[in-house]
Amino acid sequence: MRGRRVVLLGLGRFGGQLAAARWFCEAGARVLVTDLKPASALADSLARLEGLPIEFRLGGHDERDLLGADLVCVSPAVPRQAPLRRLLAERAIPWTTEMNLAAAALPAPPLGVTGSNGKTTTASLLASALAAGLQRRVHLGGNMGQPLLGRLHEIGSQDLVVLELSSFQLEDLRDGPGIRPQLALITNVLPNHLDRHGTLEAYVACKRTLVEGLGPEGLAVLNREDPIVRSFEAVARRRGARVVTFGLRRPPRGAGAAAFLAQGRLVYRDETGAERCYGEAAALRLCGRHNLANVLAVVAACGALGARAERVAAALAAFRPLPHRLELVAEHGGVLYVNDSKATTPEAAAAAVQAYAGRAVLLAGGAGKGTSLLPLARAAVAARARAVIAYGQCRAEIAAAVATAAAAAPRRPGARPPVEVCEGLEEAFVRAQAHARPGSVVLLSPGCASYDQYLCYEERGAHFRRLVGEWLARRPAGR
Ligand code: ADP
Repeated sequence: MRGRRVVLLGLGRFGGQLAAARWFCEAGARVLVTDLKPASALADSLARLEGLPIEFRLGGHDERDLLGADLVCVSPAVPRQAPLRRLLAERAIPWTTEMNLAAAALPAPPLGVTGSNGKTTTASLLASALAAGLQRRVHLGGNMGQPLLGRLHEIGSQDLVVLELSSFQLEDLRDGPGIRPQLALITNVLPNHLDRHGTLEAYVACKRTLVEGLGPEGLAVLNREDPIVRSFEAVARRRGARVVTFGLRRPPRGAGAAAFLAQGRLVYRDETGAERCYGEAAALRLCGRHNLANVLAVVAACGALGARAERVAAALAAFRPLPHRLELVAEHGGVLYVNDSKATTPEAAAAAVQAYAGRAVLLAGGAGKGTSLLPLARAAVAARARAVIAYGQCRAEIAAAVATAAAAAPRRPGARPPVEVCEGLEEAFVRAQAHARPGSVVLLSPGCASYDQYLCYEERGAHFRRLVGEWLARRPAGR
């Protein structure tokens, strides 16, 4: 890299490009950072690069920078269809990403976790459970937290690295250095990000990349109850990898190694049919059937890797919901206030309303991702949500979807939760109060992206927390 011209395309706020910029500077490259946003909008990120020998071109890109580059490091926020990424392909300009650099430099094959929903929760659970159950040092990174590229020096060759991987990262890895995981865990695959991937098949192919990277020593941990993930089993077997499946229902004997729920217990059954218990579902602090599926995925991995059952059980029971994922913000007058701002897909929000069947006053809305909102609406009807408060860009679409779902409801056609439509979250929160009774759950689970009104889902969740806090502060004590 010494003396080479490296251009960082997109700086962003997530830290990956910052870590990459630092990494290239340390390697002696001549670094230029370019971003569409002006310096004023990138102040925080720029402050973190102070003192490094970096040139900047902000407030717009200049094609000539890319044409003169030896290597371009692309931010994950720049879509494949963006003209500058097309230019890289057309002119065969070498490119990479922070994740590609980190994955290629890991001292041992990673344990990869991907899926449409539940990646962060499952990857975090897996890291805690393996650290406890195998008594190994485990590093967690990828699509969450601190960029791995800046932490490579902390990783020993005996350590485990759990990597959460998004479909975009998998696509970039596939077209770059590839990925050779020792474990590939797929939570579920549903239509998602079709605005960026184009077709379902292209999206599924990205997720499949993780399984295709397994070798004969590898382990595939697959959702038995998800037809697309199920179809990856043949891919894993062709690679000679072991397969273990997970799902809530007990599979028939002879169905191979599997994790399932039996009378409230988390059970792993190995290839010989021997069963071991990894704890009780009732001991978990995570709620909802979707989280049980996430936990069973981890039980499947732990069972197959021979992790100590009682230690894993203790780690699973100690695990608290991560911020913005069915996070309990407050309880007042018998009403729970739950922040699930990370539910950016209709399916994630559907899982959340089902977790509080008969109790949810659902606040949903935001920017659509090109997928149907019907799964969210159907779940709200089937799980007898107390009300649906639709806000933001998709509000009318959500209201229409609830009407459609109610009309087609199999059991009680026409029965539907009251729907309110409003502009922003503030108004939505006020309206939600009118529907909340003791026993209700005021649930922010938007089912959409946040970009119409917020910078990111964290900002949206923080706004909800603030609204709850302000509202409670105005309540007389105990009422
Ligand atoms: P990801 O990293 O894939 O976005 P997270 O673990 O951050 O997943 O969870 C995001 C949201 O998705 C949660 O708030 C929850 O509502 C929902 N969710 C989590 N796990 C599942 C699952 N297995 N199936 C469906 N929805 C889920």
